[in-house]
Amino acid sequence: MHEYSMTSQIVESVLEEAKKHNAKKVDGVHLVIGKLTFLGLEQVRFAYEILVKNTIMEGSKLHIEEKDGVVKCSKCSYEGDVKYEDDPTYHIPTPTLHCSKCGGVVEIVGGKECLIKSAKIIV
Ligand SMILES: [Zn+2]
Repeated sequence: MHEYSMTSQIVESVLEEAKKHNAKKVDGVHLVIGKLTFLGLEQVRFAYEILVKNTIMEGSKLHIEEKDGVVKCSKCSYEGDVKYEDDPTYHIPTPTLHCSKCGGVVEIVGGKECLIKSAKIIV
């Protein structure tokens, strides 16, 4: 369960930060999650609820900001959205690492981030 371990790390670092500030409570957490992390946001929220129980984070609001994937082509220097292709096996759109302009190989430059943007703590 990828989401659970990732969320656990986030909760741990927020708690650590809160401890440094002698916080009594954590009121809210703002996360930025790139779409190319393929994390299920529902699973993240679910794991969060479990993990914050019996901590000073219990009852805090979790705000998740989703970031679109951004790719860059080294051939034609196109920079923009990730191209999605329907996978015939699963019938779901999967991102391809091909430039939507020239078909060259692109590099992912954004959308893989998973970070804590801010946490609201009450001292
Ligand atoms: Zn290109």
